[in-house]
Formats: sequence, structure tokens, C-alpha cells
Amino acid sequence: MNIILLGPPGAGKGTQARKLVDERGMIQLSTGDMLRDARSSGTEMGQKVAAIMDAGQLVTDEIVIGLIREKLEQNPTGSFIFDGFPRTLAQADALGELLAAMGTKLDAVIEMKVDDEALVHRITARSTCATCGEGYNDISKPIPADGHCVKCGGTEFKRRPDDNEESLRTRLMEYYKKTSPLIGYYWAKGDLKQIDGLGEIDEVSAAIAEIIG
Ligand code: ADP
Ligand code: ZN
Repeated sequence: MNIILLGPPGAGKGTQARKLVDERGMIQLSTGDMLRDARSSGTEMGQKVAAIMDAGQLVTDEIVIGLIREKLEQNPTGSFIFDGFPRTLAQADALGELLAAMGTKLDAVIEMKVDDEALVHRITARSTCATCGEGYNDISKPIPADGHCVKCGGTEFKRRPDDNEESLRTRLMEYYKKTSPLIGYYWAKGDLKQIDGLGEIDEVSAAIAEIIG
């Protein structure tokens, strides 16, 4: 089973992907997380992409396709959730070819629909546990009053440097210009499923479960 979670920044792709990992043992392939790891480990590639990411622009297809190829090769029999990838038509074509070369394919592309106003509110309110990555939101899921992560007990939380209003505006523009054409692309292939991403976390999970069984 291989699925793509497709949607604008803040749609909740990462939250749902993490649940699928916990509940079904699927492997989450988040190019955003991979790029952030590369960046904090200080590799040459990481340094190169840092400024692009902070500005909210897309890094090159070549870099992200390379990252995905490497992960797929490491797990030839895995069940994958693609989160934040593909983001361009070239990436979508490359993914189709990589999966075909492994003798597998996509089972569903799940578009998480949300309205733009909600995105801005969600993103400017979000933070994560620095230890385990559990996600929080100042409004819908605040960090507990005792200051300990609900999942691991950690006490350090962080916000992403690109979760500010200006960078977010650029990310949304990139999404509409370069990524939203994938909705038509996957619709035409017969792979597209659409769900409402605005509900509670568990409601959204239930909608995903209905699609992937
Ligand atoms: P979000 O979906 O919340 O914007 P991500 O964590 O998926 O965040 O991505 C953060 C940043 O990493 C993007 O704004 C972009 O600069 C870069 N990035 C992630 N995935 C890709 C991709 N597939 N292609 C190009 N750039 C990417
Ligand atoms: Zn934690």
C-alpha cells in the first residue's frame, strides 16, 4: 500500500502520516523532514537549501527526487506514505517511474481539502516536541500546562522558522502555482480521492481509513 497525502502547507499531512506510522507500521517519507534533517546535520546540500526553505520556495526537483530515491532503495518492500512529495509534475512523473522500477505503484492520492484562512491560523499556532516530534497547536491542541509532552514527557518545544506569515504566503503561492496541478494529474489517472481536512484529527483519520481500508 502506497499513498500520497496531498494538500497545502498546514493541511495536516504530517499529523495524519504520523498516525498511519503508529497505527499501521507504514513508512512516512516527508521531504520537508528530510530537508530539515539535512539542514541541521550541516551537509553541503543542507546548507544549500536552508535559505530556500526559509523563504518558502521549493528546492530543486533533482534534490528531492534524489532523497526519495535513496529512501525507497533502503526499503524495497515498505508501505509508504508520501507527505509533501511530489510537489511538482516532474516529481510526480519521477515517483511513478521509481515505483514502477520497484514493481509497485500508488494505491491512492488523498487530497486534504482546507480553506486558506484556516491554514494561516493553524500554521502560525503550531509547534512540535523537540524530542519526539509530536505536534501541538496553541488553539486546538495546546502543550499541557505542566509543560511536558503528552507522548514522551519532553519539555522542549520548537516552532519552524518558516512558519511566519511572509514565508507562509510564499508557500501558499508555490502550492497553487506548482503543486495544485497534481490534483488534475492524479484525477486523470484515476488515483485521486478527496477528503475534508478541516475536521478533528480523528475524523480526518477515519476518512483516510475509509479510503485505504
Ligand atoms: P509544509 O507542507 O508545511 O509547507 P514541508 O515540511 O513539507 O512543509 O516543507 C518545508 C519546505 O521544504 C518547503 O517549503 C520547501 O522549501 C521544501 N520542500 C519540501 N518538500 C519539497 C518538495 N517535494 N519539493 C521541493 N521543495 C520541498
Ligand atoms: Zn515528545
